[in-house]
Amino acid sequence: AQPGQALLEVRGAVKRFGGLVAVNEVSFEIRTGEILGLIGPNGAGKSTLFDLLTGVQPATAGEIRLEGRRIDGASPRAIAGAGVARTFQHVLLRPEMSVLENAALGAHGRGEAGILRSALRLDRAEEARILFEAQRQLDRVGLGEFAAQAAGHLALGQQRILEIARALASDPKLLLLDEPAAGLRHHEKARLSALLRELRDEGVTILLVEHDMDFVMNLVDRLVVVDFGTKIAEGTPASVRGDPRVIEAYLGG
Ligand code: ADP
Ligand code: MG
Repeated sequence: AQPGQALLEVRGAVKRFGGLVAVNEVSFEIRTGEILGLIGPNGAGKSTLFDLLTGVQPATAGEIRLEGRRIDGASPRAIAGAGVARTFQHVLLRPEMSVLENAALGAHGRGEAGILRSALRLDRAEEARILFEAQRQLDRVGLGEFAAQAAGHLALGQQRILEIARALASDPKLLLLDEPAAGLRHHEKARLSALLRELRDEGVTILLVEHDMDFVMNLVDRLVVVDFGTKIAEGTPASVRGDPRVIEAYLGG
């Protein structure tokens, strides 16, 4: 896709959990080459929206297209294979496994549990290729020197970056990050912000959920704001920051 064109389109997405409408008729697009922020108060439906985009949960209604092709209804594996990778709100590393093995878990969209099991059945050449690719992603994000360490020994900021390296190992077109700066120290946030800019400049399109407003406002190209499952604003950081509905959602609740 060309820079600026829609990479992902969401049209009228709805997700109900029984009587609760977690995502309510949400429409937006993510343009190729941008960092789009998705913000909103706790419980607004941000993580659920991620689940819809990645096929972890089926949408109740609506359409989701990646490069014009419908992906709603497809399996998480198929969507990952089509080029959508994500990190989760809570760190999901294997702490006892090495940094390199954790990064290798993301290779080629095989997802969480599958890769190691299948790795045992891989021939040596295939295994070497996956580990080579994982090391390349670690070097790309600045964790190359920690490859042999247990992932659980990394600082939280490094663990978050390792999760990004793992997501990058599937060579995604679109990277979805769920609160990557949560709990990070100031210098870790600065490092993360610089990394996301580098990735964007290398052509990775990014959708970012994040609560830290300074972090978001200084990083993203555009923002979508949700509250109670509904999109209430969309635009540049400068325009969204002054929007009365956004101020109300954050201060009036
Ligand atoms: P956010 O990530 O914006 O904080 P969530 O997407 O996690 O919000 O949650 C949106 C709403 O949906 C909340 O009211 C939450 O309790 C509800 N919710 C999320 N997941 C489920 C689920 N699996 N079953 C029932 N309710 C859920
Ligand atoms: Mg969430």
